[in-house]
Amino acid sequence: MELKEKIAFYKVCFDSMQAGILVFNNERDIVLANIPISLIFEYSSEELRKFKACKLFKNCGVLKNFIIHSDKQKYKTLVELIGVKKSGQEFPVEVSFGKIEYEGKPYFKLLLTDISLRKKREKKIKSLNYQLEEEVKLRNIELEQVIEKLKKSLSKEKELNFLKTKFIALASHEFKTPLSAILSSTELMAKYADLNNFEKRNEHLSKIKSMINHLNNMLDDLLTLENIESGEINLNITKFNLNDLIRDIYKNSKPLLKKNQQLIFNNNDDKEIYHDYKIITIILTNLLYNAIKYTNEDGSIKVEIKSNKKNIYFTIEDNGIGIPINEQNLIFTRFFRAKNALYYPGTGIGLNIVKGYIQNLNGAISFESTENKGTIFKIQLPKLNTYEQESITN
Ligand code: ADP
Repeated sequence: MELKEKIAFYKVCFDSMQAGILVFNNERDIVLANIPISLIFEYSSEELRKFKACKLFKNCGVLKNFIIHSDKQKYKTLVELIGVKKSGQEFPVEVSFGKIEYEGKPYFKLLLTDISLRKKREKKIKSLNYQLEEEVKLRNIELEQVIEKLKKSLSKEKELNFLKTKFIALASHEFKTPLSAILSSTELMAKYADLNNFEKRNEHLSKIKSMINHLNNMLDDLLTLENIESGEINLNITKFNLNDLIRDIYKNSKPLLKKNQQLIFNNNDDKEIYHDYKIITIILTNLLYNAIKYTNEDGSIKVEIKSNKKNIYFTIEDNGIGIPINEQNLIFTRFFRAKNALYYPGTGIGLNIVKGYIQNLNGAISFESTENKGTIFKIQLPKLNTYEQESITN
């Protein structure tokens, strides 16, 4: 091949490369640029040869630096720069630096690729990644909410299971005693019927009645637990005299009294009130039956009722076993029974129900107790106002 042909051949190879090749001298004058450089920067080959290499880049500092420190490590790897087209449009390029010597003079070459497309893709991937991360975060939050819900329903389920287990234990223990008392009373009644002993028969009849009442109250308690918790208490307001209510409670509690136990009612109020007769009965009965149960023979129980324009006040006082000081904060907790109460029958739900009802009626309950001395419970219930009375009777 002739020299002329060789040069032409090199030029073809030089121009047919995919990457742009730019060669400049110490003064940064462009001495050689292949066709891809023209295409990338949108200048003609003639135009390119007229100016300095710096014109093609946003920051010329890198080129200047390379000329001075060309053997530095950082110029041995690919570097990203911002190129500037003839139109002034900026775009990302990736370059690799190299130094050459020709006829004793140093020259500097850049192998350059337009990476706009790659950058665009990277940006898109970044934004997709960001979207994905946000989506994952959102899903995680949703997942946490679902887990929280599941945990709640699981603990509700556990509580329900606990209640069921407790109920079975209660039913087998607490229901058995009155049921066998009823059974033995009926057997004895059959015996007295033969002997025509009416007095004994009536005694057993009232015992049976009181045991059935007791069972009924226990069942009522269990059934009301759920309603109280969900706040679904339907008030049944009627007009009644507190004296009548007290008389009913007294009649029902009399058979439960132990030997020589005294029950004193002190009612300074015989006015008629509007309220829920059944709920007040449940509250007072629970507290009174507890007072009777936790007071031994010869003890005394006092019930006092007062009222003013706004409230009704009840106090139930006994001189029984009392509540140990270190357990007093727990007695309204469902199923809780103090250590000294374990010798007495009970379910540990009565006070929980009482408190639930009182809270629902916007009332208040408090107590003072000393172990082996006695206990006093105090209740305050707001009277229902005329508006409520009217809305209920209408
Ligand atoms: P229980 O069926 O056990 O009587 P309650 O809910 O009515 O359940 O009462 C809870 C606990 O409070 C009782 O087990 C007992 O320890 C204590 N308590 C309630 N009333 C009295 C009282 N008058 N005297 C002593 N302890 C009482």
